[in-house]
Amino acid sequence: MRSMFIEQEATKHLLECVSSYCSLCYTTLSEGENIYYDTDNYRYLCYECAKELAEQKEIESKMAQEEEESLPTLF
Ligand SMILES: [Zn+2]
Repeated sequence: MRSMFIEQEATKHLLECVSSYCSLCYTTLSEGENIYYDTDNYRYLCYECAKELAEQKEIESKMAQEEEESLPTLF
């Protein structure tokens, strides 16, 4: 699975200049906490949301793979 989240430590600078809350559940991110940058949607997420989204995407990519396999081949 390709990684679509960049794990970062929430620094004071990051919280003040970029984002101080999770883009999904709007929980407040605090300094020193691990936060996750979503490279697909350019937003910061808390650990819980990043984990949930990663699992969801894994399921989706598995389903897409299965769909591809069940398609008749053209050549
Ligand atoms: Zn969240």
